[in-house]
Amino acid sequence: MSIQTLITKICPYVEFPAGDCFCTRDGSQNIIKAVKYCSNNYEECPIFNERSSGLEKIVTEN
Ligand code: SF4
Repeated sequence: MSIQTLITKICPYVEFPAGDCFCTRDGSQNIIKAVKYCSNNYEECPIFNERSSGLEKIVTEN
C-alpha cells in the first residue's frame, strides 16, 4: 500500500503553518504529533481547532 493511499486528506494549514504547528517544530514528539494530526486526523488537532475557531470569530465579526 502506498503512502498516497493512506493519506486521504491534508490539513489546510500545512501550506501556511503557524509557528506552533507540530510540522514546524523539532523533536521526535512533534514528528509523532505531525504524523498523527497533519493529514487524515487534522480535525482532531488542538492547534487546528484553535486556529479554526479564531477564523470563525473573524468571519462572524465582519
Ligand atoms: S494539523 Fe495542526 S499542527 Fe498540523 S498543520 Fe494543521 S493546525 Fe498545524
